[in-house]
Amino acid sequence: DLALRQARRGSWKVGVVYLDLDHFKRINETFSHSVGDSLLSEVANRLVMSVRGADLVVRSDPGFDVGGSHGSATADSAVSRFGGDEFTILIPRLRDEQDLAAVGRRLLETLSQPFSVEGHEVVVGSSIGLTVFPSDGDNPEELLRNADTAMYAAKEGGRNRYQFYTQSMNERSLRRLILEGKLRRAIDESQFELHYQPKVSLSSGRATGFEGLLRWHDPELGLVGPGDFIPVAEETGLIEPIGDWVLGQACRQIGEWGAQGCDVSVAINLSPEQFRRPGIAQRVAEVARAAGADLSRLEVEITETAVLHDTELVIRELQAIRELGVRVALDDFGTGYSSLSYLRRLPVDTLKIDRSFIQDIEVDPEDANLTQGIIAMGKALGLRIVAEGVETEGQRSRLTAWGCDEMQGFLFSPAVPPAEARELLDDT
Ligand code: C2E
Ligand code: CA
Ligand code: CA
Repeated sequence: DLALRQARRGSWKVGVVYLDLDHFKRINETFSHSVGDSLLSEVANRLVMSVRGADLVVRSDPGFDVGGSHGSATADSAVSRFGGDEFTILIPRLRDEQDLAAVGRRLLETLSQPFSVEGHEVVVGSSIGLTVFPSDGDNPEELLRNADTAMYAAKEGGRNRYQFYTQSMNERSLRRLILEGKLRRAIDESQFELHYQPKVSLSSGRATGFEGLLRWHDPELGLVGPGDFIPVAEETGLIEPIGDWVLGQACRQIGEWGAQGCDVSVAINLSPEQFRRPGIAQRVAEVARAAGADLSRLEVEITETAVLHDTELVIRELQAIRELGVRVALDDFGTGYSSLSYLRRLPVDTLKIDRSFIQDIEVDPEDANLTQGIIAMGKALGLRIVAEGVETEGQRSRLTAWGCDEMQGFLFSPAVPPAEARELLDDT
């Protein structure tokens, strides 16, 4: 408040920095909380040191004169820990945005140097959001909120960077807010559908099972793709009821098809958020029993990021899921950070090679080699291998030659409503 009052009188600008450490949670998990604590205070020291310079720029400006009725106090640049691994910094006097950009660069630079805490060498990145008074807000709350928004944009943009706030970010968050409201209603008003994309055996050419993919029909927005609403559902916790609905729907479908004498499997996608609280295995069991589904027909797909978060907890849940007879697939394989030794520890039955590898196997020898390598490695670990996003005959024949088990993709069929999925089964 004081800084803004002074800036108004002196017609200069004020900068707000919102800084969040990247992957700080991993430090706590990998080392210990006391290492995490020491790191936070080291970070704080470096932040204070690096904005001290910015303060000097301010003070050395001969035009600087506080004056006025609030008299004595000069707003100093202030570093504060906002909570957790988030820090905010006030730069009370800027000439222009460039000054703040320089602060952003300096902060990234100082934090990118390795830290030495309790005998460990630790490297952390940081994501920084920046706002400037008066263009990005005319009160402290707004400036902080928008800086926070910009910080998220910096994270989404690939982390370890700084990002100025822009108006369009707010439009985006407004869109999200609208989407959130609509999503809440979507569950009650049953606007969701599960469509089914077949997985095809490369040796027999027959459909062996389906992946259930969520579709949302909003009365105003029309068909919204999961890529647009799943992230919102994850952020708002709505993924829990939505995930339960998907699970129930898949189980009912397994029951229905089973009653018609076709014993195909159905896979559903589980979001990392659904592993945040323990008990997902329990819920799978309950929902499947209520729907009268044969659990050996159910498969769950998880991504590497789901497992990376709280590895031990997730592994326990996955083991419990497998004990129910449900199979587990590792989705989008190749896009994460799984090491070979890590993969060995994971209770999974199936590897799904990400579409980004498959896409270019006909033209890019490196992708072809990688895909062959993944298939060989997966087989050595006793896993079933599924190639995602197969669109051409050329891809199919290569994958068959390399010993891949199954494929999924537009070459055979996109995800279709249940009745059409049933027909696809009869056709193969
Ligand atoms: P995913 O699990 O990797 O699903 C495969 C996506 O690739 C689907 O997009 C599918 O339509 C698309 N695809 C399949 N074959 C091809 C192909 O040959 N070419 C191309 N270009 N694309 C192909 P979709 O349905 O838009 O789903 C996107 C993502 O949304 C899914 O990626 C999954 O991560 C998520 N998702 C979908 N349904 C659910 C759900 O019920 N729960 C959760 N948690 N996530 C879901
Ligand atoms: Ca999937
Ligand atoms: Ca996938």
